Amino acid sequence: MVLHKKGKLGAGISSMKNGASKATPLPDITLDDIGGLPEEMKDEIHQTLSIIKDPVRATQLGIQAPKGLLLYGPPGTGKTLLAQAIAHEIGATFYSSSGSAFTELFVGVGASRVRTLFQNARKHRPAVIFIDEVDALAGKRKEHGGEESEKTLTELLVQLDGGNDNEGILFIAATNRKDMLDEAFLRPGRIDYTFNVPLPDTNGRREIIDIHTKGRLLADEVYASLDVLAESTSGFSGAELSSLFETASKRAVRDGRQQIDKGDLDFAIDRTILGSTSRALNDIDTKRRVAIHESGHALIAALTKPGSVRKATIIPRGQALGYVAPIQKELHLQTASELMDQVSMILAGGVAERLYLGEHSIGVSGDVQQAKDIIERMVDTGLYQDSFTLTFNKGEKEMKMQEIFGEAIGKTETLIRENAAQFEELVEVLFQKETLDGTEIQKIVDSKVVQLDELVVV
Ligand code: ATP
Repeated sequence: MVLHKKGKLGAGISSMKNGASKATPLPDITLDDIGGLPEEMKDEIHQTLSIIKDPVRATQLGIQAPKGLLLYGPPGTGKTLLAQAIAHEIGATFYSSSGSAFTELFVGVGASRVRTLFQNARKHRPAVIFIDEVDALAGKRKEHGGEESEKTLTELLVQLDGGNDNEGILFIAATNRKDMLDEAFLRPGRIDYTFNVPLPDTNGRREIIDIHTKGRLLADEVYASLDVLAESTSGFSGAELSSLFETASKRAVRDGRQQIDKGDLDFAIDRTILGSTSRALNDIDTKRRVAIHESGHALIAALTKPGSVRKATIIPRGQALGYVAPIQKELHLQTASELMDQVSMILAGGVAERLYLGEHSIGVSGDVQQAKDIIERMVDTGLYQDSFTLTFNKGEKEMKMQEIFGEAIGKTETLIRENAAQFEELVEVLFQKETLDGTEIQKIVDSKVVQLDELVVV
């Protein structure tokens, strides 16, 4: 039920190996084109740039111009953009490459590429040398292994060192795996400043959405929903947000429209999270089972957390035959009762199948695993509604998990039984229409006011 995000979108630069030492055309980009950077980081970058731009003044103040910067963070957060913007701000020629462009089987080839890269950059100062995925080149020596990679890294360290004339050369490295980097590479004088480029928070996502909607025509309804979009895309990177609007635009163009409408955006969100759609379900029995399963999730979500469902569908997408998409909120520290509601909602698909079809299907395996993980975390942290107790014994832990599982199943059954009319209505409408949006679901569920606290939990 709960959606899993796919792997990274918007991979970084891929350089052809033998092009590793050539200057790369620089897009017309400034720091303002990068959204979601923490204020403190922006200030530090501006300070760093002013030192680089005015080295004489910096020397008078006793400040050394930085030689190397490291940007680290999850994929698609704008590290490459940042390197480009920095090069642009200081009017530098941009040499961009990927760490893997220096890894070769032939001893000495990688090292000679590093040398050539620095030599070329020194001929065109000021220059920025940007190496993405630097962990492929500057990984920890003992783990990295191999004579060739050792030689290449040593050459990089030599080139970065003051022994060479590096005036007017700024080295910027980026990685998703800072923990993999060699200590010697990270030492000040080689890498002077390290910046974490995180996944954007709600405000950051809003800024990035603004950047990527500039120049696109959006329906009024879509404009009005951009704040909610920023809130509901927790965990999305800048690259994913950018791809969201690209996908939505393509769909609008495909349908001969100028404007991106709500349907385009919904389509793009689902596509980003789950992958492409498959054909609609033809087998009536399977379609009914999926409608019952998804209605189970949707009912419990709408009852325990009104307004939390974005949509429910029985049109297959990616690996899922159907799914209920939540409105994602910022991560917050969940309490025991919230986690119990979540477990109930996750198990509700299988429970609904059992109540209405007598047995559940293999389709619940992902749900069960997800519920089990949450229950295990609850037991491991002593997170119960009525007490804070830790269990250290394996057998006791299993018993506790079984107890919570049973409690969640009981609560789910009760909620479905108590709201049978709404549940059956949901199944029918979902079966007919195949996709329902959050407001339609909530309307059906709210059609009879249920007093949750009156329910007996078995
Ligand atoms: P990787 O670690 O995979 O190399 P990266 O951090 O270098 O990724 P970029 O290549 O800079 O990410 O981002 C890819 C694309 O995603 C950019 O060209 C841009 O369109 C969009 N993007 C990413 N982050 C941001 C951001 N903070 N603001 C605006 N757009 C962004």
